Amino acid sequence: MGLFARGFTRQNIVAIAVGVFLACVPLVVFNFWLSGVTDRIGREEIDLSARNAIVRAEHRLVLTMGALDALAAGGVTACDVGERGAMQRATFETAPIKEITVLDGAGRSICPQVDNAAAEEAVRRVHSSEPLTARPGYALDVLTAGNGQRMIRLRRPAASGGNEIAALVPTSLLLPQLAVDLFDAHAAGTFGTADGTGPNHQGVYAKLETGNGATLGEIGQRPTDASGALFIGRSQSGQFGLRAEMIAPRALLAHGQWGLRWIGLLVTGAGVTMLALFAAFMSYRQPRNPVTDIERALANGEFVPYYQPIVDIATGQLRGAEVLVRWKKPDGTLVLPGAFIPLAESSGLIRAMTYDLMRRVSDEVGPAIGQRLGLKVSFNFAGNLFADDVVVQDVFAIFAKSPIKMSQVVLEVTERDPIENFAVTRQIVSALQGMGVRIAIDDVGTGHSGLSYMLKLGVDIIKIDKIFVDSVGTDRNSTTIVETLVDLAHNMRMDVIAEGVETFEQVMYLREIGIRAAQGYVFAPPLPGSAFLKLVEAMDTLGESVAPERDAAAAA
Ligand code: C2E
Ligand code: CA
Ligand code: CA
Repeated sequence: MGLFARGFTRQNIVAIAVGVFLACVPLVVFNFWLSGVTDRIGREEIDLSARNAIVRAEHRLVLTMGALDALAAGGVTACDVGERGAMQRATFETAPIKEITVLDGAGRSICPQVDNAAAEEAVRRVHSSEPLTARPGYALDVLTAGNGQRMIRLRRPAASGGNEIAALVPTSLLLPQLAVDLFDAHAAGTFGTADGTGPNHQGVYAKLETGNGATLGEIGQRPTDASGALFIGRSQSGQFGLRAEMIAPRALLAHGQWGLRWIGLLVTGAGVTMLALFAAFMSYRQPRNPVTDIERALANGEFVPYYQPIVDIATGQLRGAEVLVRWKKPDGTLVLPGAFIPLAESSGLIRAMTYDLMRRVSDEVGPAIGQRLGLKVSFNFAGNLFADDVVVQDVFAIFAKSPIKMSQVVLEVTERDPIENFAVTRQIVSALQGMGVRIAIDDVGTGHSGLSYMLKLGVDIIKIDKIFVDSVGTDRNSTTIVETLVDLAHNMRMDVIAEGVETFEQVMYLREIGIRAAQGYVFAPPLPGSAFLKLVEAMDTLGESVAPERDAAAAA
């Protein structure tokens, strides 16, 4: 609960989301890399299987040829009894060979006793015949035996007499073992047949061809995958021109690499969990930095001016306004200055904030104010802004380009802020006054500096704090203090403004003791720019006598 109350504001959540997103990039890259590795391994595996298939098929052909060569060398030319014995021994000893026979010049078996060869011969269908160029004299036939089994027949000339010695090898013994190697779930020996009706290898497909392209056999059904997610391995025999082709869907091979998949999943899961925990922990541990918040809000233009009218209580005319800053958050809430000005002052952000406010005021109400020279705009100026004389150029730079004249600008410095270097502050005040800007002392009567000390700065206006305005007329001491202040101000040719005036009685009393200007809820609260502009225009038609000449004369 505490975690949510303290940690998860909207900004935090956005920050966490961005953080997690950024931190996920390495994870995504890792998974991408892992999937590349999986692919590469898959491709290598299928290539290797294709090569293995060729090596095995070649090896069986070599064994077979070895047996035939030995028979020829032993003088087998026909099919007499002794020769038949030699052929039977060779058949028995040479694993792939199913049958050895002798063929006459027309290609017919002259060994009728071998496996009922004559009957068998009648139903054998020879599909193709090709010479094996790597072994002069040798030929390779592809045929289907009477029992439907696909076979190859290797032929070589007999030692003499124009006959040939031939060996039959079932193609199933030449076909690749890839399905067994790669996907051991599929039992060995379950080879397909040439017509593709073999056992289902879940999309694994293998095919073996002769050098001339005659099909020796196929396993499974050739997968079709429009998305191209197939791994294809091809290999060709160096010796006999045999070709092996293998195809497996990527998903199947990746499936065969569950170890890698698991690593990927584990790393990703652990990474994301750690990131989320870390983000939650950080946001819980570190309360948001309020100075950074102010900085960001400043950059976002969230500090906006409100305008509290200052009124001439003798004539009812508008004298101008005090600018009071408001923090308008993106969600629409309005924060009062008490909540952020102290931090803005201590962090040094107050300078930028004040200047920004001045520019905004200049943009928003500048034209209306500039046309009415009798109106003044007051800005609250934190005491520490008076510690460095750059403020003089800064203020000049802002208002030199503004419709608001220097003579319409008032800077309020509160009596509560201690003056660190009186001599410098005094100089700055006179430099500003030299440009036409007027200086007011704010919150008079509440500070610790002592009024007489402040008055030595040579200010133009004193603003009497609400505390005295509230008790004036009821509390003898307050009344005496205010009356003394008014006398003092008049003697020193300063203006007096009463602050926080809330009732009509207060207005009457202030007027009696000679105060001319006041601000407070009795007239208006601080107003947004649009409302203040309407008031300015309305006051024009109420009293034409807001005459610049008169006011200018009063100011002089
Ligand atoms: P302040 O300069 O004394 O401003 C007058 C405060 O009294 C304002 O409060 C105003 O809204 C409030 N006020 C006006 N009339 C009445 C009234 O009749 N009754 C009552 N009860 N209050 C009234 P706000 O706007 O909250 O400002 C508080 C203080 O924050 C200001 O006191 C001023 O010291 C400071 N502040 C405001 N804007 C700025 C700024 O831009 N820069 C600096 N440095 N300080 C600022
Ligand atoms: Ca003020
Ligand atoms: Ca004040």
